[in-house]
Amino acid sequence: DLYNKVQDLKGNIRVYCRVRPTLSNDTKNAIDFIGEDGSLVVLDPSKPQKGGQKVFCFNRVFGPTSTQEEIFKETKPLIRSVLDGYNVCIFAYGQTGSGKTYTMCGPSGGSTKDRGVNYLALNDLFQISCKRKDIINYDVQVQMIEIYNEQIRDLLAEESSDTKLEIRSCTSNGGFGLPDATIHPVKSTMDVLHLMEFGEMNRVVSSTAVNNRSSRSHSILSVHVNGKDISGSILRSCLHLVDLAGSERVDKSEVTGDRLREAQYINKSLSCLGDVINALAQKNSHIPYRNSKLTQLLQESLGGHSKTLMFAHVSPEEASYGETISTLKFAQRVS
Ligand code: ADP
Ligand code: MG
Repeated sequence: DLYNKVQDLKGNIRVYCRVRPTLSNDTKNAIDFIGEDGSLVVLDPSKPQKGGQKVFCFNRVFGPTSTQEEIFKETKPLIRSVLDGYNVCIFAYGQTGSGKTYTMCGPSGGSTKDRGVNYLALNDLFQISCKRKDIINYDVQVQMIEIYNEQIRDLLAEESSDTKLEIRSCTSNGGFGLPDATIHPVKSTMDVLHLMEFGEMNRVVSSTAVNNRSSRSHSILSVHVNGKDISGSILRSCLHLVDLAGSERVDKSEVTGDRLREAQYINKSLSCLGDVINALAQKNSHIPYRNSKLTQLLQESLGGHSKTLMFAHVSPEEASYGETISTLKFAQRVS
């Protein structure tokens, strides 16, 4: 009962945990138990006998055998909310290799099987808007950007430009956004898929200099929805689909220069995100949006009448135990 009351108060923030399958069969598993009630028990490999168990609790935990469809089922009500005029953010959080991109985009290599939240969400959005077409006419536009070292880059610009985008007020809706980023009208899920492929390519091209940059930047697919109903009244909303940078901590004694700088930027922006979500959940009067580009950009979609969903990803292997605990602590703090 108390739990439900707490959930009511924090009604606009949901946190789910997803445990990815083990990729190699010979590694030991640190996940001890996954409960129907959203509980998760992790076993400290250095204390296998006793006292090594840590219990976490979320709105739900998805185990290694969970399917993309099951994940999307939990996301579906939010898509309806977007079309009803709410701003929505969906985040994938976790260390590199824990399955963030799998959840959002599906398996790499562009397989049409097991498509991720991005595709399924857009598909649903177009389906619902089609069903409502006699009463309301929706216009959908997308932007795709990445934030790397606190600099924002347009992933959909025709000429792969390294122009840094500034967060400014948008005349179209009066709120803050990226008026200088390219924005593409889209009519179907396929349109969005093609743009996402283009954006991914843009990301890969620039990553040759800095190896595997994609895991060290946040990528955001923003879906801007404009609805006009038969009476002429206007509805505006936004869905942000965010594949966050890997949350792993680096050993300061082992990295220097660019790699250390990257790690510090990532730490800072992820902890700012945690601070903002936590402040919202606590209903604080001051929400520290301005401490990172990520939270500044998403300001209008975090808090107020917005809805937030976070998938905290963990790897089941014992070798990931430390990062798993830190991901679960982060997720617990914002839930
Ligand atoms: P991240 O984006 O967090 O770095 P990835 O999504 O790239 O992690 O996942 C790492 C690897 O694990 C990839 O090969 C991916 O296909 C695989 N993987 C992740 N989650 C799942 C899952 N739920 N089912 C099957 N394979 C998965
Ligand atoms: Mg990834």
